[in-house]
Amino acid sequence: MKIVFHERYREVYSADPAATQGRLDRAYEVLKPEYEFVEPDYASEQDIQLMHTDAHIDRIKQKKQLFELSLLAAGGAIKASELALAKEPAFGLIRPPGHHASKNSCWGFCWFNNIAVAIEKLKNENKIDNALIIDFDLHFGDGTNGMFKQDERVSYYHMGTLEDLEKTLEQQDSCDIIGISAGFDRHLDDWGGILSTQDYQEIGKMIKEFSLNSCPDKIFAVLEGGYNHDMLGPNIKALLQGLK
Ligand SMILES: [Zn+2]
Repeated sequence: MKIVFHERYREVYSADPAATQGRLDRAYEVLKPEYEFVEPDYASEQDIQLMHTDAHIDRIKQKKQLFELSLLAAGGAIKASELALAKEPAFGLIRPPGHHASKNSCWGFCWFNNIAVAIEKLKNENKIDNALIIDFDLHFGDGTNGMFKQDERVSYYHMGTLEDLEKTLEQQDSCDIIGISAGFDRHLDDWGGILSTQDYQEIGKMIKEFSLNSCPDKIFAVLEGGYNHDMLGPNIKALLQGLK
């Protein structure tokens, strides 16, 4: 398991909870001693154009730092997906998040849809035929869902309960890669107040188990929500322990 991270992800680029000072610092401290860190490149504008309109891209471009960091977050997702394709499971410790970004609009602290750009790029380069996106953030990834609604090659699933995830995976067709929109805002000590740290390990285990018959080791995750700075590290670690 590798962690995709860039020092610039620490920058405060906006006044929202995903962009707050120090949000990733504790997670970095928890993960750094145990995992190999890999630095991503910036996504190109052509990469972003796979999923967003020029008008949307131009709007983000008005704010230089936000634009650069949004390209870097998408680049982080791309890097994680490429590692996964090479059978190196990877976690993108990235921000801004992306799952509320649609083709021509965005909200919910998201600008470019990182996971969607990464999956579409692999498709576009004929590196995969199909993909499964599992989103366990507290919030429904309306951006990702909308982008792939008409695309039968990419399935988007937003987790309900753990039991629901288990059932869904039992019925799921095999796929070439699994992308996880990993939001940790459902945690007991976060906004949702629902899941324990141990539950993230369970989620990881279920996904790992499904992948064995489908696309072994071709799993990547990217950070979405999660606003308890102290719990982000332990929760990510729990997920990764389940996925290993
Ligand atoms: Zn969320």
